[in-house]
Amino acid sequence: MLICCDCGKLLEEDDVSEFKAFDNAWGYEKFIAYKGCPYCGSGSLAETTLICDCCGEYIESDYVRTEDDRTYCNNCYSINNAVDEAQGI
Ligand SMILES: [Zn+2]
Ligand SMILES: [Zn+2]
Repeated sequence: MLICCDCGKLLEEDDVSEFKAFDNAWGYEKFIAYKGCPYCGSGSLAETTLICDCCGEYIESDYVRTEDDRTYCNNCYSINNAVDEAQGI
């Protein structure tokens, strides 16, 4: 599974689009082809292997790693506040 470093979308290998861009970085112009995110066009994709230990889904953004080395996505892990809890009584 790949993740877009710019918009955070998860991508299958098949989802990755081929882009052509005009590049003149070295003083001459040429077309370059690169593989990128179909949502935002970014070329910075990274391999991700982060999977939530609770729901088994790939994690797109925020997650929690617990001391016993389990990983939870932010859908499965919620941070509670002791003061809020006390006031709620
Ligand atoms: Zn993207
Ligand atoms: Zn989860």
